[in-house]
Amino acid sequence: QRDKVFATRPMSGLASGPIAGGPDAGDITYGALFDMAESLAARLIASGLKPGDRVAVQVDKSIEAVALYIGTVMAGGVFLPLNTAYTASEVAYFLGDATPCIVVCDPMREGEIAPLAGDAMVFTLDGMGAGTLTQDLPAPGFDPIARGADDLAAILYTSGTTGRSKGAMLSHANLASNSETLRDYWRFTADDVLIHALPIFHTHGLFVATNVALLSGASTVFLPRFDASAILDAMPQATSLMGVPTFYTRLLEDPRLNLETVSNMRLFISGSAPLLVDTHEKWEERTGHRILERYGMTETNMNTSNPYEGERRAGTVGFPLPGVELRVMADGAEVPQGEVGTIEVRGPNVFQGYWQMPEKTAEELRADGWFITGDLGTIDADGYVSIVGRGKDLIISGGFNIYPKEVESVIDDIPGVKESAVIGVPHPDFGEAVVAVVVPDATGILPEDILEVTREKLANFKQPKRIEFVPELPRNTMGKVQKNVMRDTYKASFG
Ligand code: ATP
Ligand code: MG
Repeated sequence: QRDKVFATRPMSGLASGPIAGGPDAGDITYGALFDMAESLAARLIASGLKPGDRVAVQVDKSIEAVALYIGTVMAGGVFLPLNTAYTASEVAYFLGDATPCIVVCDPMREGEIAPLAGDAMVFTLDGMGAGTLTQDLPAPGFDPIARGADDLAAILYTSGTTGRSKGAMLSHANLASNSETLRDYWRFTADDVLIHALPIFHTHGLFVATNVALLSGASTVFLPRFDASAILDAMPQATSLMGVPTFYTRLLEDPRLNLETVSNMRLFISGSAPLLVDTHEKWEERTGHRILERYGMTETNMNTSNPYEGERRAGTVGFPLPGVELRVMADGAEVPQGEVGTIEVRGPNVFQGYWQMPEKTAEELRADGWFITGDLGTIDADGYVSIVGRGKDLIISGGFNIYPKEVESVIDDIPGVKESAVIGVPHPDFGEAVVAVVVPDATGILPEDILEVTREKLANFKQPKRIEFVPELPRNTMGKVQKNVMRDTYKASFG
């Protein structure tokens, strides 16, 4: 399928850049993408890459960056993408930890990054596909270096929501099995046109969106970043969208989102952070589509998904994917159905361990293959899994466990509240006290109005001891609420 379009309207150098046009100017065919990947593989090998060596990449999103991912894997290397927001001192940690043999960075940052690269060879690549990496490339025609199913294809650092990012070692079999499962579960085919507006340094944009599109031979509308207007422009020609929950809340703010705009779309998928029930319902009212929510993480790719056919239940993440086992544990045993515990998963998707962290790996990955996710959840009578929050966000006040999500749900339902995040902060009497950080809408709700409802609906120990109004919740690039940042902000509340 060399002539099939992989990406339309990409941000690429196009005629002037390394990948010359496709059938329509601005389109990149599979043939052009794989030619580029082969040339890059040859360049990496000529630069000294040996099987298993890491290629660290901190560059803006571009088709060439996708080709570099494919080329690295073809050359037997281990792809290691880094968040473009990382500062030089953060990059220094990752390069020191991962000891890559090749580093690719933005030309604008070469001066900062090159001194951190040690013995590694440094190339540059910008968001248009230009830079030293793509200059004078060898001709395509590279035979991929054979690798085993358990050999590493990538090291992907976790988002760092709960602490320092850890490098998750992902094998070829980990990635291949999950992409095949998702393609089939979500019915992706070569007829699909996926709107790709996620970053490609994270599991969601790289392994879920890009791998599923590549494996099914689909086309993508490849956008440099989230842009509600560009997504709405693309929708009439597209069939599917993968996004984090903030994509959906922002799109709902645009009056152009209506039945007509989505008439060609078959599937909207959300993940990486919890989708509010309210967003799910508003989306259905406006578009007639029920967003399909799924749950995964860097270490495991995707674990669960709401069904393609059958009920997509708001507030849940659906069922374990085919081939993935999931159990909810507390005190060394599975909890009774409906009760909260720690989610564990096992399957071909589960990673090979944390890079250079054997102790952490031993703590979280059991010898029999079960991975302790650190997420708390429940399974309902019909088998739907719900995420209650992260173990690290559990609040213990006066000896009682409080699940932030339960309090957040009560507050989010109050008219006048846009959203909320509930955290525990140190308290002299209770150990921890509940603080609710609330984003009000423009209707002028007061903290007392919220306390009135929480007093009525929640047991005493669960009630917030303080309500803080903020214009928006602190989020990282993947739209995840940063509760560790909030705990720090409010740590002296009960001084
Ligand atoms: P770190 O592990 O470094 O603290 P992180 O866990 O945020 O960061 P990721 O691997 O990017 O890094 O995110 C995985 C986490 O995202 C999951 O463990 C889960 O807490 C959350 N998550 C993913 N999908 C969903 C979802 N649909 N609903 C609720 N939470 C989700
Ligand atoms: Mg994590």
